[in-house]
Amino acid sequence: MRRLPVVAGALALLLSACAHKADVNTGGKVRVATTISTLNSFVQGVGGEYVSVKNIVPIGASPETFAPAPQDVATVADADVLVENGAGLETWLDNLLRDSGKRTLHVVVCAQGLPVKNLNPHLWMDPVFAKHYVAKIRDALIAADPAHSVAYRRNAASYDRRLDHLIGQIRQQIATVPPSHRYMIVFHNAWQYYNDRFGITTLGFVERNPGQEPNPQQVAQLIDLAKQHHVHGVFSEPEYSPKILYAIAQGAGITVVEDLYDDSVGTDPRVANYIAMLTYDTNVIVHALK
Ligand SMILES: [Zn+2]
Repeated sequence: MRRLPVVAGALALLLSACAHKADVNTGGKVRVATTISTLNSFVQGVGGEYVSVKNIVPIGASPETFAPAPQDVATVADADVLVENGAGLETWLDNLLRDSGKRTLHVVVCAQGLPVKNLNPHLWMDPVFAKHYVAKIRDALIAADPAHSVAYRRNAASYDRRLDHLIGQIRQQIATVPPSHRYMIVFHNAWQYYNDRFGITTLGFVERNPGQEPNPQQVAQLIDLAKQHHVHGVFSEPEYSPKILYAIAQGAGITVVEDLYDDSVGTDPRVANYIAMLTYDTNVIVHALK
């Protein structure tokens, strides 16, 4: 008889947990907030029909220079799980978390435990590392919503297989570029981990720090490097103004490629999710370097 109150207590807890899930206006789905849109693909891939995902940095905006608005505070306040990259990418997130007043939030720091180089946060651009992101998101969704753990495990395993396929495709494509052509100059250093994984050398990048333009000496250096290594192109993203890239390209007599996607997916279906984006980027890079 003495055990009864404990059991009743546990039952009450369970019931209130169910009630909480049932009365959210997302139809009982786990509410996930992601900082950048590239991470959405991983959450959608693992969570499928059991999650509703909201993104904080808008598609086409740069996470390095982002400033949160009041609706972003609401997004975090409403979330059950927050998925961030970490490794110094989201410098604005601590304030946002504080302003949301949120105390019970599963926070997933995707890059945690991965080998960060030169304080560069763009680890997701290596699809081998992306598998670690997927595993972390899977574990967080299971913790937040254990009832669907079987589905989360199954979806994560299936997404992993898609990443393995992608990795194989990228290797095959890069293999068609002569080794002496495997050099890139990029606008901002989002390509370090991808390039290191697939045997491309990042010769230089234009923007040393977010929002900081290079001085004339640094521009001259990049032009020299491009000429020395017979670089075929300088690469940028739609969210940046590549004026300075044109100066470098003109100086070195090479072309500008303006449509790589990395920090943000695009609205075009060809680049609307992570796997599509890396497939598209690889085509663009291989075409330019050949
Ligand atoms: Zn970036």
